[in-house]
Order: sequence, then structure tokens, then C-alpha cells
Amino acid sequence: MSTPDIQLVFAAADGKIYPYPGLEGVGMRAGRYERLDPRDLIPLPKHAEFFLLPDRVAVGYDAEKRSYIELAHDPYTGREERCYPVAAFLPPGLTLTHNVAYAETPQAKLLPLFAYGTCVYYRGEFHASAVPVDADRRHDERTMDAAAIGRGIEDFKRRYPANRLVPHLGGCATTNACANAKNYFLGRYEAPIPTSPVCNAQCQGCISFQPPERGVPPSQHRITFTPTPEEIAEIALDHLEREPDPIVSFGQGCEGEPTLQGAVIERAIRLIRAKSSKGSINLNTNAGRPEVIARLMDAGLNTVRVSTNSVREPYYSRYYQPRGYSWSDVTASIDTVKRAGGYVSLNYLTMPGFTDSPGEADALLRVIGEHRIDMIQWRNLNYDPRQYFRDLGLELGGSADGQGIPRVLERLREAHPRLRMGYFNPKRSSLVDA
Ligand code: SF4
Repeated sequence: MSTPDIQLVFAAADGKIYPYPGLEGVGMRAGRYERLDPRDLIPLPKHAEFFLLPDRVAVGYDAEKRSYIELAHDPYTGREERCYPVAAFLPPGLTLTHNVAYAETPQAKLLPLFAYGTCVYYRGEFHASAVPVDADRRHDERTMDAAAIGRGIEDFKRRYPANRLVPHLGGCATTNACANAKNYFLGRYEAPIPTSPVCNAQCQGCISFQPPERGVPPSQHRITFTPTPEEIAEIALDHLEREPDPIVSFGQGCEGEPTLQGAVIERAIRLIRAKSSKGSINLNTNAGRPEVIARLMDAGLNTVRVSTNSVREPYYSRYYQPRGYSWSDVTASIDTVKRAGGYVSLNYLTMPGFTDSPGEADALLRVIGEHRIDMIQWRNLNYDPRQYFRDLGLELGGSADGQGIPRVLERLREAHPRLRMGYFNPKRSSLVDA
């Protein structure tokens, strides 16, 4: 039997990770297993993470049998010991083109809220199936010195002892591993300003609230208070002074929907802009409230990042479960920002097999043109890759279709040459010729 070039990777019962040359490593899209081409692969970055998938079975390809095979037992022990699929969790700026290939056992529960990329062994190194979309290193953990962050938090507590956002963001930096919060205390890039304990949607994969019966903990602690406009302005103005090309950003992972605190944010923006015209003020939002977004634009908002998993109403609604608004309000918000001269990014929550399906890709091309969207921020959706399709009412498995994420990127570049692709919110300096 010949050894495959791309080898399956599995985790033994003790959690140790091994390549297995007895099976070819493959990927998965929409529950379909697919053989990988070396051109699909990138070496796993040093700061990627490995996840072992409980109650699931790794799947590889046997070229002689010409079939996909489940690897239920550790092939190296000679005993019937369970082994597990291994997924790669990639750092920002890399978009997954396949999920890890696995089958579920009857005991399988919802996976924790992360993205599960394929992880294979190729030419002596671990690899993932992904495309780079942004080379900016602003969330690179290796540049974030824990001692300097700790000193930054203490410094802010001394200078702003009554500001409740300081201890909240301190917790985000030290407990929730929030890169924006860490950078805030290092005095650089984007200042995160959470404001809303509540939301008007109920996303299946919301990282700050999950109903207890689903059995997965949210990965962020949601803010429990609404800061005053003065608290917000204090934090924002400090950042605008310190960073040369700063962003102040409402709508964070540790909160609900910021436009539900529209009056507070509007007043805060007016306070900030009365003292500083520097930098960019950004809103990350589900964009269900166009009338609030119009007021925020009037107050001085520069950029808006609209989050969605799909640009098609049925799939948007099944994932977001919006309350009191619909997809047409989202597009109305985008049009509102554009009319006011603002810059719109789509925070496009990507899942291999859905995002690159012909229906979604065609709709994306159309929506970008119709609503004059400036940028796509490609985000791997942190959600169980099989449950996602069940939630959307779509079939899992079947024969391969879809064009692949790299082809979707190509089609977008051809159809919309001015569309910007990336991962991070744009800095003010980069908006000049946008
Ligand atoms: S819009 Fe954001 S805060 Fe609201 S449910 Fe969805 S992910 Fe959670």
C-alpha cells in the first residue's frame, strides 16, 4: 500500500496528536467529505490551536478501496482504544476552505463555539485548508506582552477610578482573551466599547449568550450594565490621544446589540467629536435598526460593520432569529450609511459548503453591487459545522457542489474590483481613497 502525501491526523485517548499514513487526510464541506489538493493547504501557523472533537470519529480516504473510512480506534495501540478527530483553530486573517472531516456518534452534543478547520499532515508539517485574506498582525498574540497589559490596566484604574468600563475591559483582556481589549491597554489599534446587555436577535452561535439547555457555555461574558455617555467618551478620548491612527468601536463580542443603546451612543459620539476629530468611530452591529443608525451617522459615526451569516433572508433568519426586524431592515441600514457618506463592511460569517454554495455566492455578488458595500471582513463562523446545516434546514452530505471559497474570492475580485477584502476594521487613513 502506498503512503498518501496528505495524511490523516488523529488524537489518541490521552490527547496526543499523531499523523496516520494509513489514510489520506481529507476535508469536509456541508457534511461532504472531499479529497484535498496540496494547493488547498497552508502550513499551520505557530499560534494556531488544536482541538480534539469528543464523541466524533475521524474520517480519511483509502485510495485502494476508493472510499472514505472512519477511524474509530487508535491504529497504533493494537487495542480497541477510541481515538478522535483533530481540528485546527486558525488565527485571524485566515479563512477556512474546509472543515475537519468527522462523523458524529449518537452521543455527540453541540460543539463549543469555535471554528473547526481541517488539520492534516503534509511534507513533515501540520497543514490546514485555508486562504489568507489579511496580513495585518494587530491581533497577533505574540506581540501582546501580558506584563505590559497588566500595567496598562492598573494605570487606567488609577486615572479613571469611577469608570465602570475600565474593570470590564480589564476582565476582557485578562479572562476573555479579547485581542482588542489587550491592545486597548497597550495603547494601540482599536478601542472596544461595549454598551449593551441586551439583544434583538438570538444567533445560534452567539458567543455572549447561550440558553443553558443547549449545553455550550458562551465564550465571552456579556456586559451587565450600560455605561454613561461620559464614561464612554472618557475611554474613547484617551485612546484617540494615544494611537496615531485610532479606531473607537462599538459592538463587541462581550455584549448584545449596541443600537439598542442608540441614545447613549449618539450622545457619546457627540461628546467625543466635540473634543476630537481624530481617528475613526465604528459600529459593529446586526443592523436591524436603520433609524438608529441614521442618527449615529448624523452624530459622527464613520464606519459600520454589518454582521451576517448569509445575504439571503431565509438563511439569515434561521441563524440570527431576529426579533422585531428582518433582513430588509439590514439592507436598509446599509443604504442609510452609504447615503450619509459612510463606509460599510460586511462581517461575513463564513462556513465552508454554505458560503461557497452557488446560491449564496451568486446572491453575495448581487448584494454587494446593489448596496455598494465597501469591504468584506471574512470571519470563520465559530459554530458546530454539522449543526449549522441542520439549523439552516439544509441537507448534509450528498454529492459535492459549490465552487470553493477561493473561487468565490476570485469572482468577487473580478466583479467588484474596488471591493476591499480583509479581516479587520479599516483605519481612517485607509478610507481616504476608498
Ligand atoms: S446579534 Fe450579536 S449579540 Fe445578538 S444574538 Fe447575534 S451574536 Fe449575539
